[in-house]
Amino acid sequence: MSTIFSQIVEGEIPARIVYEDETTVAFLDANPLAPGHTLVIPRDEYERLNDVPDDVAAALYDTVHRLVPAVEESVDADATTVAFNNGKAAGQEVPHVHCHIVPRFEGDGGGPIHAIAGDRPDLGDDELDDIAADIESRS
Ligand code: 5GP
Repeated sequence: MSTIFSQIVEGEIPARIVYEDETTVAFLDANPLAPGHTLVIPRDEYERLNDVPDDVAAALYDTVHRLVPAVEESVDADATTVAFNNGKAAGQEVPHVHCHIVPRFEGDGGGPIHAIAGDRPDLGDDELDDIAADIESRS
């Protein structure tokens, strides 16, 4: 079963495509959080960022980088929130990597990315040091 986004890539279901190249496609979100809310995806189906090969990741970032100013200018936004829901536990519903570019406006009533947090952990210096060292060792 291909994802709904693969069906958009294949032209099987309609979408308002705003940019495409060999590796990536960008289109308007069907249920926008703001005017201009755009999704950027790799043409090929990868469920999570963790699954995306390096060359595709680079192309994906290039497209995000290209689209952020285009989206902001087109809807006269003051800013954008740019984010991935990377995995079900993070709220990802469509299992095909996609970057949300959400235009933001002064006084739009939305929050910063910090608003995603539930209970914040109370971590001591030793725990922070251990976590940092562990991430570094895997990077
Ligand atoms: P997620 O929660 O997986 O990060 O976000 C999925 C996004 O895809 C949602 O913002 C949703 O509105 C959007 N979406 C779901 N189905 C479709 C569709 O068929 N077409 C378009 N353009 N967007 C969709």
